Amino acid sequence: MSESKPPYLRSVLESIPAYKPGKKVVGPDGRSIKLSSNESPYGPLPSVRDAIAQASAELNRYPDPGAAELTAALAARLEVPEGHLALGAGSVGLLQQILEAVGEPGAELVHAWRSFEAYPLLAELSGVTSVRVPLREETHDLDAMADAITDRTRMVLVCNPNNPTGTAVREEELTAFLDRVPDHVLVVLDEAYREYVRDRDVPDGLSLYRDRPNVAVLRTFSKAYGLAAARLGFVVGHPHLAGAVRKTLVPFAVNHLAQAAGVASLAAEEELLERVQATVEERARVREALLEAGWTVPPTEANFVWLRLEEDTLDLAAACADAGVSVRPFDGEGARVSIGTPEENDVFLSVATKYPGRR
Ligand SMILES: *Cc1c(COP(=O)(O)O)cnc(C)c1O
Repeated sequence: MSESKPPYLRSVLESIPAYKPGKKVVGPDGRSIKLSSNESPYGPLPSVRDAIAQASAELNRYPDPGAAELTAALAARLEVPEGHLALGAGSVGLLQQILEAVGEPGAELVHAWRSFEAYPLLAELSGVTSVRVPLREETHDLDAMADAITDRTRMVLVCNPNNPTGTAVREEELTAFLDRVPDHVLVVLDEAYREYVRDRDVPDGLSLYRDRPNVAVLRTFSKAYGLAAARLGFVVGHPHLAGAVRKTLVPFAVNHLAQAAGVASLAAEEELLERVQATVEERARVREALLEAGWTVPPTEANFVWLRLEEDTLDLAAACADAGVSVRPFDGEGARVSIGTPEENDVFLSVATKYPGRR
């Protein structure tokens, strides 16, 4: 046999690192505290678990491809027409669907940087060029982002509040920005952390999209709703966009358990929002304790805090790991630390308040 070549793959894959699973961190007393992925520290509510257990009896059947019950419940809850909704396997899945709908080789996606790591990755995978606009004072620089729009721009992402800095853009600056974006350029407001926002000047994307056909809002059940493993998110946009996103869904990607969990979660919303409030209160306590210990912590509207550690980033992450706490380091930049239960946060604070390095 002649020497065979491996099958052809797109060259873009060479620039994309293979997925490396994070190492589980275990502390001296065997404890393992995960503050690295901004998940809810609380499991789904008992009523949601029951709904999932019940739905599991029907796993031999394909799920409802149109997710009719969940779509109706969401439309009622959000007060939007059903035709303005598209569901997906998490908001990351939806982002890939949206990029597939708007992207083509040579198209550009404008987004802030540092922001959510999935943005440049998904852009490159879909053949779209990621245009990264540096943050200004840990916040989206919306003027610079508007300046970065060219005739190749197909889409702009605004992560509000921003992952990993927690900072949010406010109504006045965001609407001024939206007024500058040409009508044919889609603006996606990624509101993965919307439920944690308490600053009244931070707009709800659902009030902004209504009279702006080029604006869509991305939400998820992964964070406040405590359903990260179920993979469920949705987009709210005008029918032209929502319909396109529905077309790019891998058939049946929103599975039966996720649909059942979503419906049950919407029915248990009051209890879920109580948990969110507990996290909001913990967020204030953690930030206060850090400020008191001399740290600089940007005001955060999300369920995490951001520490700009620069060259000390990996060192702090290692100190946390020694105590059994995993955080999310970005080498040379800083660390993002999720808000957990009060006990978990205390373990993190005991490390951070004693940390001898840069703060
Ligand atoms: C966590 C997060 C998401 C959620 O992703 P899912 O795919 O819905 O789990 C989306 N956007 C941002 C900015 C996030 O931080």
